[in-house]
Amino acid sequence: MASIFTKIIKGEIPSYKIAEDENFYAFLDINPNAAGHTLCIPKKEVDRLLDLDEETYMGLMAFSRKIGLAIEAAIPCDRVGITVIGLEVPHVHVHLIPLNEMRDATFQHKVPHSKEDFMEIAEKIKEKIK
Ligand code: AMP
Repeated sequence: MASIFTKIIKGEIPSYKIAEDENFYAFLDINPNAAGHTLCIPKKEVDRLLDLDEETYMGLMAFSRKIGLAIEAAIPCDRVGITVIGLEVPHVHVHLIPLNEMRDATFQHKVPHSKEDFMEIAEKIKEKIK
């Protein structure tokens, strides 16, 4: 069965899309640690990061860097943290999280967003992609 993220890529489930190219897709995390928390995924559905072929792995990192730089430019924060966990959704995803304090990196503290919040944040990040 297709993962929830494959369904997002196909447009079968809505997402607050940030960017997309031939191989990768970026969208806002629906339960963010902080405003601007973004997920970058390969379109190829693979569960574990280290099972990606090298080209896709390197491509995902380059794509995540581009989106991370846009987040840093759009969202006031000390830095963007990069985390890969994957215990919840079995489709590789890189978490890009604007960090101001350690709590933002812990996944224990969540920041509720309205639909309007998500839309506004997505637009701000998209404007900064180079
Ligand atoms: P993990 O697999 O532990 O790295 O976490 C999966 C992440 O995916 C969590 O941060 C969820 O909030 C996020 N997530 C799950 N479903 C969706 C969705 N439909 N849209 C956006 N983010 C999601």
